[in-house]
Amino acid sequence: MGAVVQRLRLLHLRRAPISPLLGSSASAFVNSSCSDTPPSWRKCFSSKARSRWFGGLEGNKKSKLPPIVSAGETVLHERAAEVNPKEIKSERVQSMIDDMIKVMRNAPGVGLAAPQIGIPLRIIVLEDKEEYISLDTEEETQAEDRRPFDLLVILNPKLKNITNRTSLFFEGCLSVNGFVGVVERYLDVEVSGYDRHGDPIKINATGWQARILQHECDHLDGTLYVDKMLPRTFRTMQNLDMPLPSACPKLGPR
Ligand SMILES: [Zn+2]
Repeated sequence: MGAVVQRLRLLHLRRAPISPLLGSSASAFVNSSCSDTPPSWRKCFSSKARSRWFGGLEGNKKSKLPPIVSAGETVLHERAAEVNPKEIKSERVQSMIDDMIKVMRNAPGVGLAAPQIGIPLRIIVLEDKEEYISLDTEEETQAEDRRPFDLLVILNPKLKNITNRTSLFFEGCLSVNGFVGVVERYLDVEVSGYDRHGDPIKINATGWQARILQHECDHLDGTLYVDKMLPRTFRTMQNLDMPLPSACPKLGPR
């Protein structure tokens, strides 16, 4: 997230200069899970997402990733449904999770929510790696309180802030390709839910990891970062380092 302090450097991971960042952050796949998708879920998919999703089935089923859907797709703007805990171990849900992980890593991003590949279910995946973080300066990563963490898969996550500390940083999204905006996020959060084995989990996160969790959980409620960003901070990725308008607060912890 910045000119020095404020950038979400995943930017630099993009293969093309205009690609998005924050895994949220947010590609697609296609595998056996799709063919198992029950009719009730199919109905939930937006028409465009659905066509992409199932369109892939007709090709090479094992090699394709589902596309990341972009802002405007209904699935990104509506609340996603809870996963039935009894179905977490099913091949269908497990395949969705595997695909989400592949899509996130392929983007690459530090997080992905199921709606971003057209699936209206409450599933998020996230991870941050040293190789991503090392693209930032030390000053930036310190300001962002950004440290690597292992892959997390959370179903039906419930997030709450455990302090009122917040920070302002630029944030982007794989579903809002090519743009960023400043978002205020809590610095300390707790997330409970299920892991991919169906076991209850609880995660305490701070700093950048907390930001990623908030961004991904927002996706499950149909909220994009642009719905929460500070007005007048929206800009193209190329203009990330341009000064903020004088009326805007400084980036960093508040
Ligand atoms: Zn996102």
